[in-house]
Amino acid sequence: MSVASVTWVERDGLLRSPMLGSRGFVAGFTTRAQGSMAGSAYPLDEQSRNRASLARSLGFPGVIRIKQVHRNAVVRVERPSEPWPEADGMWTDRPGLLLGIAAADCVPVLIADTRTGMVGAAHAGWQGTLARVAERLVASMTAAGADADGLIAAIGPSIGPCCYAIDDARAQLLAPLGDHLRERDGRVFFDLWSANAAQLASLGVPEIEVAGICTKSGGADLWSYRARDAQGRYGTQLGFIGRERG
Ligand SMILES: [Zn+2]
Repeated sequence: MSVASVTWVERDGLLRSPMLGSRGFVAGFTTRAQGSMAGSAYPLDEQSRNRASLARSLGFPGVIRIKQVHRNAVVRVERPSEPWPEADGMWTDRPGLLLGIAAADCVPVLIADTRTGMVGAAHAGWQGTLARVAERLVASMTAAGADADGLIAAIGPSIGPCCYAIDDARAQLLAPLGDHLRERDGRVFFDLWSANAAQLASLGVPEIEVAGICTKSGGADLWSYRARDAQGRYGTQLGFIGRERG
């Protein structure tokens, strides 16, 4: 098992996963350049157009979405559906589908099975991480035939351990997850990246890549819920993964 910190690089205004890309998957994270992809601060029709435009630019007919509720339900998807299923994880064994996870500070976890071509994605903020949504996603995929030894996963950009200060009550809730709380200057910070990487590793995912980009301080052109503007506005990026039709 290996956990590698590989800083994702921006290309054509998109952050891409080097590891997933090198294995033939389309996987990454949008920036402000593509516009907001979800959430309430921008018009819904504008965001829908932004998603359609992103999909087209990546060679897919559209983006598959779920209604994210900070829990751990995982669904299998075979086609776009309305209303979006309420879940925080999804996977598919079909090529030609682009899965999209909305995130402004939460972690998009992107998974691919290099043997069957299955792809999956999860949305893990502190609540989803505590509810072990990344583990649930891996378990759901392997139960459906994914090969655990062939899985590769990326922890996408999110608020990092550099910026994610939490209070004592939340620290107590998160302590059972293991050694992912960092103390600095009398404050406690939660490391969403190591916490999610540990969940993937615990189920035997052999290769894990950590993008290492903080949405709040990372320098890339990203929105952060915790760095919203004076009017409280912020946009939302999309973590995405798919396999092109061969
Ligand atoms: Zn930071």
